[in-house]
Amino acid sequence: MTGQADSRLNGAGSQDTMRVLLVEDNRSIGEAIHAHASGDDHAVDWAQDLATARDLLAVASYDLVLLDLGLPDGCGIDLLRALRRKGEAVPVVILSAQDQIASRIEALNDGADDYLTKPFDLAELSARIAAVARRYAGQPVTEQVFGHLRIDATNRQVMLDGESVDLSSREWAVLLRLTQRPGAVVAKSEIEEALYAFGAEVESNTVEVYVSRLRKKLGRDVIRTLRGVGYQVSRETD
Ligand code: CA
Repeated sequence: MTGQADSRLNGAGSQDTMRVLLVEDNRSIGEAIHAHASGDDHAVDWAQDLATARDLLAVASYDLVLLDLGLPDGCGIDLLRALRRKGEAVPVVILSAQDQIASRIEALNDGADDYLTKPFDLAELSARIAAVARRYAGQPVTEQVFGHLRIDATNRQVMLDGESVDLSSREWAVLLRLTQRPGAVVAKSEIEEALYAFGAEVESNTVEVYVSRLRKKLGRDVIRTLRGVGYQVSRETD
């Protein structure tokens, strides 16, 4: 099974193996989706509530999230919002009931990629998963190199001269904002926004504090200050 999945990884076939997080509390629907998507050679983790989904998302990197809305400990939209606030671009397909049209529109506005209305045909599910995979296949690799620094946004990893560097989630949010448009100058207000998203208290010197922490961990020259304009991470960092 694994060998078969691996052989498809680099193939130009219509179906690529994806790591899928299924968030669904209905046992029979969950079992059916799990069995069907696994049969399509996707690696599926199944969470039956939001807390489990959050735990899994914290430790693993997924290619796709299939997200039910009505869950025992809250609404799937809250999980979607939290992901997008953190800048996570993982594709999210909403699994909604017929009577959840308002929630579905809300979810699409909040950054969901697609939705399926229950009850849905499992072949339809396969088609939607494949469509999302195709849409994201053209995405650039999320690993960036800035001099001695290597940033892997997908796996949330920062390497300095080959050594892994631990960043707090807020430091990570600031670094991600600084590097999302390579070479661009990022205004202080943009970094403040990234910090607000984490519920940080943003004082007048907060951005400077985080930039200074990042410089301590990553090297003084990594982030340039352009007075009165903003900050820049240059590819020529040496
Ligand atoms: Ca449900």
